Amino acid sequence: MNQLSDLPNIATLGAIDRAHLIHPVSAWRQHEQRGPTVLTSGRGAWLTDAEGHKLLDGFAGLWCVNVGYGQESVVQAAAEQMRQLPYATGYFHYSSEPAIRLAEKLVQITPASLTRVYLTLGGSEAVDAAVRFIVQYYNAIGKPAKKHFISLERGYHGSSSTGAGLTALPAFHRGFDLPLPTQHYIPSPNPYRHADGAANPQAVIDASVAALRAKVAELGADSVAAFFCEPIQGSGGVIVPPKGWLKAMREATRELDILFVVDEVITGFGRTGPMFACDAEGVEPDLMTMAKGLTSGYVPLGATMMSEKVYAGIADGTPAGVSVGHGATYSAHPVGAAVALEVLRLYEEGGVLANGQRGAQHFAAGLDALLSHPLVGDSRHRGLLGALELVSNKATKAGFDPALGLSDRIAAAAYRNGVVFRAFADNILGFAPALIFSEDEFAQLFARLKKTLDEVLAAADVRAALAG
Ligand code: PLP
Repeated sequence: MNQLSDLPNIATLGAIDRAHLIHPVSAWRQHEQRGPTVLTSGRGAWLTDAEGHKLLDGFAGLWCVNVGYGQESVVQAAAEQMRQLPYATGYFHYSSEPAIRLAEKLVQITPASLTRVYLTLGGSEAVDAAVRFIVQYYNAIGKPAKKHFISLERGYHGSSSTGAGLTALPAFHRGFDLPLPTQHYIPSPNPYRHADGAANPQAVIDASVAALRAKVAELGADSVAAFFCEPIQGSGGVIVPPKGWLKAMREATRELDILFVVDEVITGFGRTGPMFACDAEGVEPDLMTMAKGLTSGYVPLGATMMSEKVYAGIADGTPAGVSVGHGATYSAHPVGAAVALEVLRLYEEGGVLANGQRGAQHFAAGLDALLSHPLVGDSRHRGLLGALELVSNKATKAGFDPALGLSDRIAAAAYRNGVVFRAFADNILGFAPALIFSEDEFAQLFARLKKTLDEVLAAADVRAALAG
């Protein structure tokens, strides 16, 4: 483990980072100016940076470290597997015990419709595999015209060259020639931004179902392959649809004869309460993608799961003995699988899932208490996934002038106050604490958050931006 004394001079590290390391989803020239925030260690819900600054992690890394940092049994599982067999290909007919056991375990814990597992290195690759399998499926069953994909505005489905077009966030399209002509969107099921959403949740659900039907009618039912969605939209600003939305969309896709793909990369593994968000509504998708909490971020791993119908369509539509040409060197990596098996054991036998479910009440109460803060327009959450939306006018729900740089200022103030969360550019603050948070840690999270909001509000330009 890195200690401050082990590290080369922080300034040197910073200079090397600025000169050579390209950061995911960053403004490259801005990063060269700013330099990196170097993290050096983690324990439980806490991080330490290179300057010895202690931070309460309210975002579980990048909504992934669900079991918290420093779980020794996970480290042991990885070390033992590395010693025993650090690599085995899954290509052709090779396999390894951890991959086989993980496939069985995932089939046991996911909705009953999902019987087949393809292991990837993360969420983007899982989405990309899902798209490739769906194209293969419709070609294999003799419906080659079904090539169009529908997803949600503000959805996030990773940043592969195809998946980034299912993602509906401008930064992922700009300059990348996306979306493709086969990629289409319907509005987010956002109760806060729906005219009648708070009073009438069913209206939000009905609007989504109607929008999906209309989009399929516009494109032609025979040409639509699938609808992709997150049960709760994460990177789009933690948009929590009313309960029953996922089920209604599942039913609609069935009637429309298109595949229903649930992207549980964030919502899986206890993040919203049950093991998967699908479980809360008894939803059985045709395909499911997952990553993040699968290994709690300890090593890269994701999965694409599919129903027997989709699997059989591909298997039986491929000429005998001909390979389905999809794979990667690290598909079904034994170390990733061994880590996932131990992380899954911690969720269940280790009581992590249950702790997360107990924590949800403290999380909900803490967020809702901040609704009375002058900056906060909306508080939304399910399980340990939540957000506050900041507005300049609570009546009109108007946002802030981007020139105010509010979210950057909040992120900087939060860091000074020893707490990290996600401050989205449109003034939505996202939270995804580890499932091991204690009651005391929730209290500290919200105390530091309130202090941060108060400090930012104390600035004259922010106060001036508020209506009334
Ligand atoms: N799908 C969803 C819903 C996600 O939130 C993410 C990542 O945040 C992805 C896919 C992509 O996963 P990864 O970053 O592991 O490639």
